[in-house]
Amino acid sequence: MTEDAAAPVVQIDNVPLCPRCEAPGLMLARFPSSWKNEQGTDVDGFKEALLCTGCDATDPAATDLLALFTVDGWLSPENLALFTELAAAWIAVAALRKVHQRNLTDEVERFRRGEL
Ligand SMILES: [Zn+2]
Repeated sequence: MTEDAAAPVVQIDNVPLCPRCEAPGLMLARFPSSWKNEQGTDVDGFKEALLCTGCDATDPAATDLLALFTVDGWLSPENLALFTELAAAWIAVAALRKVHQRNLTDEVERFRRGEL
């Protein structure tokens, strides 16, 4: 895998609807995420996170990014550096959150199978 392929990809055009509230999403980030399969082998894949005005309004990791969209309206050469910085910070938090959610789901699944 090249370095470019491992970098997060941010999509701000044709962003899908928010899966949580079905409002139009502001931004979709696709980032590399690897996990271990049942054989314990590392699997490389991608995770996606969607930025939503409503659902992420109270998320500390998203507030600065949402403010940038609200105040500046859209990306311009002047705010591109700030956008990149805020988006990277948000993606980092979103990536961790996905992992935690997945771990929790795994725990629940193991509990159901009587392994815990
Ligand atoms: Zn939403």
